[in-house]
Amino acid sequence: MKKVTLIPGDGIGPEIVEACRRIVEAVGVEIAWDLQEAGADVMEKYGTPLPTHVLDSIRANKVAMKGPITTPVGSGFRSINVALRKELDLYANLRPARSIEGVRSPYRDIDLVVVRENTEDLYAGIERQVDEDTAESIKLITRGASERICRFAFEYARREGRRKVTAVHKANILKFTDGMFLEVARKVAQDFPDIEFEDRIVDNMAMQLVQKPHIYDVLVLPNLYGDIISDLCAGLVGGLGVAPSANIGDEIQVFEPVHGSAPKYTGMNKVNPTAQILTGVLMLHYIGEEEAANRIYDATTAVIAEGKTVTYDLGGEAGTSDMADAIIAKL
Ligand code: NAD
Repeated sequence: MKKVTLIPGDGIGPEIVEACRRIVEAVGVEIAWDLQEAGADVMEKYGTPLPTHVLDSIRANKVAMKGPITTPVGSGFRSINVALRKELDLYANLRPARSIEGVRSPYRDIDLVVVRENTEDLYAGIERQVDEDTAESIKLITRGASERICRFAFEYARREGRRKVTAVHKANILKFTDGMFLEVARKVAQDFPDIEFEDRIVDNMAMQLVQKPHIYDVLVLPNLYGDIISDLCAGLVGGLGVAPSANIGDEIQVFEPVHGSAPKYTGMNKVNPTAQILTGVLMLHYIGEEEAANRIYDATTAVIAEGKTVTYDLGGEAGTSDMADAIIAKL
């Protein structure tokens, strides 16, 4: 039986993770969940929000599904999410953005995938106060990290039957850093003659995604542009409530919704479980449970399209668990 580390997280995390877990079980996939706690609540018990045994569990099982975890502003600990990605070298952040009938959004038929580099760029944390009135941050781009993320994007495109990869950069201005990213992307593209390749300057990309998103397919970006453009793409299909993601390394994958822990809704059985459920779909897809993944996707989108048993943000009045029940009934 496949073992998967399950981290419910905090805030709304436990409610939506439970909805997702019930649905995965209802579809008949046998998973032995290895329940692990991380976040502010375990701080007191273990002296750290991310205990070593949680990392050990993920390393052993290779696959984890997590709910959102709160990062307290101004208090002691760094984001657990960032720490997890760094500790486990989860260098690719994969964020599909696909239209769902019944979700309010400016477009229909969007089917984009954002592949964001997850380890360097302005997120490397090389930042300092030079003097009272000056601060600086270094944008770190390496050939190695650029190559593995571009290769990941092309391999993903090939495996998933996608037609095109677009590399996004600002190489006209940042000639060394983004210049190298673009050079590497062009080189990697030569190894994938079956996949179309093009590049776009990031500002132009933002405009084009708003004006003609349908002409794009898989996007590959350095960390910061990836962060921003992936939220833009989530917006194109209806926002945070329906946006899943995966953090992927060579051996380990951690699946989580894009949204945070929405603390004000904790314990209210109110929020939309869709992003977490689609995160489960992404996970099933990755562990080879293709049929189960498709069935859950179809049942979830059918419940949303009907619009009868959906949460407040989708225009309904159902609770988190009611929506999960409706999806299970549909299965
Ligand atoms: P958030 O995503 O938690 O919430 C923003 C707003 O979006 C909420 O108030 C709510 O109105 C809406 N929303 C979010 N998820 C929803 C859902 N499933 N259904 C319906 N509405 C939903 O963002 P935030 O308020 O900026 O962050 C709260 C906490 O979450 C912070 O501590 C932040 O650091 C953390 N966070 C964690 C992750 C993660 O674990 N990967 C990601 C982002 C933010």
